[in-house]
Amino acid sequence: MSQNVIEVRDLAKHYPPDIKAVDGISFSIPSGTVFSLLGPNGAGKTTTVEMLEGLRNPTRGEALILGVDASTEYQRIRKRVGVLPQNFEPFDMLRPPEAVLYWARLYDLGTSVKDVERLLDTVGLSERKKSLSKKLSGGEKRKLGIAMSLVNQPELLFLDEPTTGLDAKARRDLWRLIEDIKRGGTTVLLTTHYLDEAEKLSDDVAVMHRGKVLVRGSPEELISKHGKMTVVVLAGAGADGLREVTRRGISASMEDNGDVVVPVADPSEMRMVLAKLAAIELNVKSMYTRRQTLEDVFLSLVGTKMDEGVLAE
Ligand code: ATP
Repeated sequence: MSQNVIEVRDLAKHYPPDIKAVDGISFSIPSGTVFSLLGPNGAGKTTTVEMLEGLRNPTRGEALILGVDASTEYQRIRKRVGVLPQNFEPFDMLRPPEAVLYWARLYDLGTSVKDVERLLDTVGLSERKKSLSKKLSGGEKRKLGIAMSLVNQPELLFLDEPTTGLDAKARRDLWRLIEDIKRGGTTVLLTTHYLDEAEKLSDDVAVMHRGKVLVRGSPEELISKHGKMTVVVLAGAGADGLREVTRRGISASMEDNGDVVVPVADPSEMRMVLAKLAAIELNVKSMYTRRQTLEDVFLSLVGTKMDEGVLAE
């Protein structure tokens, strides 16, 4: 058996007459790592994951999951895989322990009440055992979904947009949980349209757009290859600041919050750029340097920003 938990080769899913939901993608996921499919709404992330889960037949190509072909032999490995589907909602009228136990029975597992308690503790829901699922917050519902998906102690876990629509605190809670799951040895395939989430959690990222994988690599590799390594931020410099800077031949852009950003491609140029900027009379709140992020990589690859999975016009 291969060392990779997932091997995808030239996988495609086309719908008539001409929708190329997934259009020939390839990647592999080594055991014990977190891999993110990152892209806007409609990029083809869910279609990909559903092919890997044996739910949709590919138009062409191949997906090997735990060594078996996902489209023909998924039943053989079903019990070794956990799935949190997109927009997961637990059964309203069940309490968390009942929901987990119900799920365990569907898998035909001898899960005990103690096992259920341990799982709810793992996901941080012990305090909410007595609440009906419909009373749980959005983040708690996703935690319950993850507890259910962990009931069979999966070697591989699919999390399809686990944090979409949650507030910042709930997202951070789930990030910690995903890090714990990885530490426990489970391989995780995550889909997300949050760039910070992919950067924080992933060993490897595939940026997907219009059914294709544009680039693949660790967040560090992608940033150093496709981003400019460092930028100088002139906080609050605004349109006036941008004009002053560009008038002197320095390339810069303005962010939505009025910060002016000056990219520095080569670290050896930093001193010179800082000296030039210091010589300009600018009305700024502060001036600092920061490393680029996956957000900058995405912008340079796709040519537009992404907010809640929607590409800017
Ligand atoms: P989202 O976050 O919005 O779900 P996604 O990246 O998961 O985005 P997919 O749901 O995989 O994207 O959809 C990819 C493309 O395939 C979209 O244009 C979608 O409309 C199309 N598509 C998905 N399923 C079908 C189908 N059964 N028939 C026709 N087109 C489909």
